[in-house]
Amino acid sequence: MFIDGTWGNATNGAVFDVINPANQKTICSVPDGSGADAVAAIEAAERALGAWAGRSAYERSEILYKAWQLMTERSEALARTMTEEQGKPLRAARIEVKYAADFLLWFAEEAKRVYGETIPAARADQRFIVARQPVGVVAAITPWNYPVSMITRKVGPALAAGCTVVLKPAEDTPLCAIEIFKILEEAGVPGGVINLVTTSSPAAVGDAFVEHPGVAKLTFTGSTAVGRMLAGRAAANMKRVSCELGGHAPFIVFEDADPVHAAKGASLVKFLNTGQACISPNRMYVPNRHLDAFTSTLSDRVQKMKAGSGFEEGVSIGPLVNAAAVDKVDAQVKDAVTGGAEIVCGGERLVDGALGDGFFYAPTVLGGVNQSMQIYREETFGPVAPVIGFDDEDEVLSLANDTHYGLAAYVYTQNMARAFRMFEGLRFGIIGINDINPTAAAVPFGGMKSSGLGREGGHEGIDEYLETKVGGFSI
Ligand code: NAP
Repeated sequence: MFIDGTWGNATNGAVFDVINPANQKTICSVPDGSGADAVAAIEAAERALGAWAGRSAYERSEILYKAWQLMTERSEALARTMTEEQGKPLRAARIEVKYAADFLLWFAEEAKRVYGETIPAARADQRFIVARQPVGVVAAITPWNYPVSMITRKVGPALAAGCTVVLKPAEDTPLCAIEIFKILEEAGVPGGVINLVTTSSPAAVGDAFVEHPGVAKLTFTGSTAVGRMLAGRAAANMKRVSCELGGHAPFIVFEDADPVHAAKGASLVKFLNTGQACISPNRMYVPNRHLDAFTSTLSDRVQKMKAGSGFEEGVSIGPLVNAAAVDKVDAQVKDAVTGGAEIVCGGERLVDGALGDGFFYAPTVLGGVNQSMQIYREETFGPVAPVIGFDDEDEVLSLANDTHYGLAAYVYTQNMARAFRMFEGLRFGIIGINDINPTAAAVPFGGMKSSGLGREGGHEGIDEYLETKVGGFSI
């Protein structure tokens, strides 16, 4: 753990193991922080706040720029750490490190653009000035599925704004967090400004985050259930809150789109990170008359995907993060089959040879999925593509919006007017129109409805870490 500028153990000496999900071997053990360690980290962040907020934006920017340089230089080592503890194929891990570093660079630049305002007053002797100041100590909680970028997407803007930070990373992926903190320390972030508490007791650390009066803001990425609970408790103590939560993305292919091209896109985005992405498509809507062409192209491509350790050449399906994740995917597939769905391909755990040592599930395409099935409503977080037929635009728009989630949606169409109707009508925060990667550090990322509060990235990303202050001057 890294508290007050010092690397150390949990105060009670406890540790927990970090497991490679491809073979269940222990990689190493890390400190198992307690609520008391979280409090020590928060108090270090409180002490460091004044001096960090008092540095010029240019100084903070320079440190973030240096961190971007270091992360870029160390990208291969960081990607390897990610593949080992999280499981994703090395190629995907390298892409994530690049995406993660982009946030450091973007917010190094945005630090210098925290503008205020002057506002005309009704009285001749009055002047109004609006200034924006750091919110204070930020408590951040991140998930395991994107273990590097989910951290830089919070820590980058928080540091740029002049906030200090305490981070609790996911217990499945603490090693990436440790490597990021080494980079930030080497880049020149002063002691106490960033603090890292690794733990296998998330609730104890979460309690400190939502209850300690020194925490001004909670930023959380993870499941809707945990986010809702923590956001409610933090709000009760009047802390600022932002949350990036779960999703259930529709992927809509219209009859004017090329179904084969759309199926290629679907196969790429659905199976990214073995389906363990908040923006992963969960419902694929295809016109009834194109169902055969779409499903057969999709299943042809899916059957060619190779599962295995992320370090093996040619592997695109890594393990799921743990045994519970495999059980959940398997239960959703079984429930769908019981309800009448057809397994077009996959639909089983992968246990042959070395795969049996890890948490593997076959990439799966399901046909004949309907609204009565769990998979139609619950986030899968695994490699399953449910395909659903539809007949017209109004029907599919209403089906797509019929969810309490509102993170990402995808549309394939060659009709520009329809593309606009969909962009405007879909109640989701991120819309890909013929585009399977509608994200970048420069654009806002976040969801509507139960998918979250606030936005990360883009110029909005730094707003989440700023308070607005007005000064009325009588002259
Ligand atoms: P999770 O179980 O909610 O865990 C997320 C984080 O919260 C982890 O660090 C976890 O710690 C911690 N946590 C769990 N219970 C807690 C508690 N009582 N108090 C404080 N912290 C607590 O979610 P997950 O399964 O790791 O992540 C997958 C979810 O994240 C999916 O729903 C996915 O859609 C969502 N996600 C959303 C985005 C987005 O940008 N919208 C991005 C990525 C993922 P432990 O690891 O120790 O359990």
